[in-house]
Amino acid sequence: MVVKLPPEQIVIRPPVEAYSVLIPVTGGCSWNKCRFCGTYKGVYGASQDYAIRPLEDVLKDIDYYAKKNYDGFPVFLAGGNPTSAPTEYLVEIIKYIRQKLRNVQRVSSYAKALDILRKTDEELKKLADSGLDIVYMGLESGSSNILRIMKKGTNAESMIKAGKKVLNAGIKLSLYILLGLGGYKYSEEHVKETARVLTEINPTIFRFRTLNILPNTPLWDEWKSGEFKLLSPVENLKEEREIIANLGDNVTSQVFNDHVSNYCTIESSNIKEDRELFIKTLDAYINNPKIKNLPRKNLLRM
Ligand code: SF4
Repeated sequence: MVVKLPPEQIVIRPPVEAYSVLIPVTGGCSWNKCRFCGTYKGVYGASQDYAIRPLEDVLKDIDYYAKKNYDGFPVFLAGGNPTSAPTEYLVEIIKYIRQKLRNVQRVSSYAKALDILRKTDEELKKLADSGLDIVYMGLESGSSNILRIMKKGTNAESMIKAGKKVLNAGIKLSLYILLGLGGYKYSEEHVKETARVLTEINPTIFRFRTLNILPNTPLWDEWKSGEFKLLSPVENLKEEREIIANLGDNVTSQVFNDHVSNYCTIESSNIKEDRELFIKTLDAYINNPKIKNLPRKNLLRM
């Protein structure tokens, strides 16, 4: 039996927001069709429909944390895509956070490229001015072909446009790259196009994740039937190496492997400065016989 979670129940947050004040703003995901994603689809017996929470409920949550003196913490606006909510609604929430909680280190949220594209530059500037510091966006792949196959609902050019709009508004941008998303068949395209899109955007941060396939997702059956193949640990590391090697010289992003799904933990505060060392370190992983022989495990809990 699948239980439906109310929108105030938080399902997921980025690892970097583990010690943040989490304020649920939206429930579920307004798209919810990506073939690799089970977050809101009842994978573990609980699903969540898309909903924007009533403003007064969100403000009450902020009052709660203010009363408990949660000052000095970062604040994460939770939900699959809070940027789908009207700009005025978000501005009111962010201003209220900044008014009620002191010394808030940052205010952040997930964002979906299409929601960003629906907002005008002025609206994004308003969000930045009210104190939205950073958004986390799933690029997953720079290949329009892979994005289409995986039903991401957007293509590379829209991702580039949305990414640039965020940065131009003065909001920091953190992108997720999903290693292995093209399987063996589209691995080369995944690498080449992802490096191209990252070069075009030059995001503040990009983060690697490794594809694991969850039950109840459309990709699960394809994987089980052998139609889709998961990359081995070393092949995932090679994809990461090649993405870094193919970046343009203009890319100054911070880079993280900060997820349980990753096969390495390398990070950089500026990939332009660290590129050579980053690649050398990845090569050391790739050529390590222990890593070469590491069996591929599909994580069901992350
Ligand atoms: S990956 Fe993101 S946009 Fe796609 S269904 Fe999952 S939450 Fe929604």
